[in-house]
Amino acid sequence: MKQDDFDKLRVQLTTAFPGVKSWLGRRDSTRETLATWAQSLRNTSLEHAVLVIEQMIDGKLPPPEPKEYERLALRIASEARKIEWSQRVSPVDDVPAWDERHRVQCRDCRDKGVRYVWPPAAMHAAREAVSEGREFSAYRFTACAVACECFRGDKFVDRAEPHLKPYPRFNANCMVPHSGGPPSEADVRALLDFFGQRKQPALFER
Ligand SMILES: [Zn+2]
Repeated sequence: MKQDDFDKLRVQLTTAFPGVKSWLGRRDSTRETLATWAQSLRNTSLEHAVLVIEQMIDGKLPPPEPKEYERLALRIASEARKIEWSQRVSPVDDVPAWDERHRVQCRDCRDKGVRYVWPPAAMHAAREAVSEGREFSAYRFTACAVACECFRGDKFVDRAEPHLKPYPRFNANCMVPHSGGPPSEADVRALLDFFGQRKQPALFER
């Protein structure tokens, strides 16, 4: 709180507890004490400090004792913080509790069994562009789907329905992951890095 809020609080405190007021009046160093109190309460809102004083008046909190007057502002700050926290963590009833069953177990396919990679044609074009130092234009290519390495990918490799074509299994040695939408900068970077780092031709094509 700022100085003018502290002055309001001090009036409320000394009005509610005359013992505090006369103790302050008797001191040689009233000004220093008040400056120390203001410093102790600088991160406390007037609203919460007033609640503390009201609770001290109601008896919900112990009233100030003469032996703690010196450190009274610290106690008000600490009680105010507790009130503030208790208001913050009030229970939220309309939000459903976390359900472990909904946890994604495979980050690669987000449990769908399928993930996206750059298509073979893009792999060819990128490999040539890198080896010849040419620009690679990524936007001619759309991603293709492969079966994830996790067990959820199994059903896309061994297709039960005869009319469904089995997917190749993802293989990091010869495939480059793709986000699935229009190629992002990260998708293109991953593809070019793949060929930039390995001088051997990719094994994607059969
Ligand atoms: Zn997976």
